[in-house]
Amino acid sequence: MIKQLIRTSLLSCATFAVLSGCSVTEPVSETANLKSKPSQNVPKNIIMVVADGMGPAYTTAYRNFMDNPSTPEMESVVFDDILVGNASTYPAQVSGYVTDSAAAATALATGVKSYNGAIGVDVDKQPVNSVMYHAKRMGMRTGLAVTSQIVHATPASYIAHNESRKNYNEIAEDFFDIRVNDNFIADVMLGGGTTYFKREDRDILAQFVEAGYEYADSYSDLDAIPVGSNVLGLFAPVALPAVLDEQRKNRLEYLTKNAIKHLENENGFFLLVEASQVDWAGHANDIGSAMAEMHDLALTMTYLREYVEANPDTLVVLTADHSTGGLTIGANGDYRWSPEHLKAMSASVLTIALEMASEENPGEFVASKLGFSLSEEELATLDSVSNQDDETRFNAVKAFLDTKTNTGWTTGGHTGVDVEVFAFGAGYQSFIGQIDNTDIAKKIFQFIEKKE
Ligand code: MG
Ligand code: ZN
Repeated sequence: MIKQLIRTSLLSCATFAVLSGCSVTEPVSETANLKSKPSQNVPKNIIMVVADGMGPAYTTAYRNFMDNPSTPEMESVVFDDILVGNASTYPAQVSGYVTDSAAAATALATGVKSYNGAIGVDVDKQPVNSVMYHAKRMGMRTGLAVTSQIVHATPASYIAHNESRKNYNEIAEDFFDIRVNDNFIADVMLGGGTTYFKREDRDILAQFVEAGYEYADSYSDLDAIPVGSNVLGLFAPVALPAVLDEQRKNRLEYLTKNAIKHLENENGFFLLVEASQVDWAGHANDIGSAMAEMHDLALTMTYLREYVEANPDTLVVLTADHSTGGLTIGANGDYRWSPEHLKAMSASVLTIALEMASEENPGEFVASKLGFSLSEEELATLDSVSNQDDETRFNAVKAFLDTKTNTGWTTGGHTGVDVEVFAFGAGYQSFIGQIDNTDIAKKIFQFIEKKE
């Protein structure tokens, strides 16, 4: 990180070399060229990416996971090229120092700290408007692309106002009922959650279609929608499957591309992207899914860097809302981490644990899904849990992976550490250094007002 911050200050030096006369002694890298290229400091388009639960240990773990062991150096990953700083995440005082995703999303979306559980409301449960609301009010196109249900805490806080994140049905109603100058807040909504929109008591899905939205419930349907449409794409009853269980291994990148395709226009757009399930892997203490969800996010960020290279008037900011699970790289006094065991997994730990119960040779089945061979003893251990209940099997397979990789966890919940901030494109300089999560929203509000 220090290296990155030094690189960042070198960049500013490069950018302002002419004015200040400071000299640049190192060759300016490709990254530097990309960063210093923005034609303006106020972006036309703003893409906010939230990696739910991605504390600093996740980005380090991902770099190790991607390392090519046949070269002596550690290859860098996309996150290394775009790091600019660090953000505090603590919620409103009433909730102490450890935030949940609702309070953190409310902070990132509205610039207001609230209590854990709050969706777009302050500590007095009064509605506070988001950057997406403001973008719509200013005539931009707006959208979201997430891998959870679209009414989950992070996307919900950009649109709805509710005293509790658990009120999914009421939150879905806000998606339709809240208007800005007669417009819905989001023009494009991609993720999961048909359960909350197509209900017996109210068919919000039909209401959106009636109001002119294109509806997609499969990726092939989504592909067929004409560019520039308003879109409601719900690809699962609740959340999308874990990426390890999906056919499409780049589902977030794919949804992000599709959202942008429908949002691009003369007045600019605001898009919220969420890698929702890094957090869920953390809650489950599942290192296999954690790295797979990080990989989907990395593909998304690589795509967004290409997008900004072609569209330098676009700003991309990536941060996490908090860290989850207390992930540690190495555990129990053993100075070892072995992510190579995570590289060939062909199903999530949960799916493996559920399916092994009906297998004749459960140990062999687990080995085939994990993608590496197991010792007789390891096979016997896994065979011995195969007729236990779901939770016991799930815990056994996770514990097995933790032992193989020497991964540690301290909690099934969140932790209060600061999170990294990544930014590139027009106006990225505003996010350099130590900031607070509310500063991100405050700066985006200014950019939407076209102020530097
Ligand atoms: Mg979330
Ligand atoms: Zn969480």
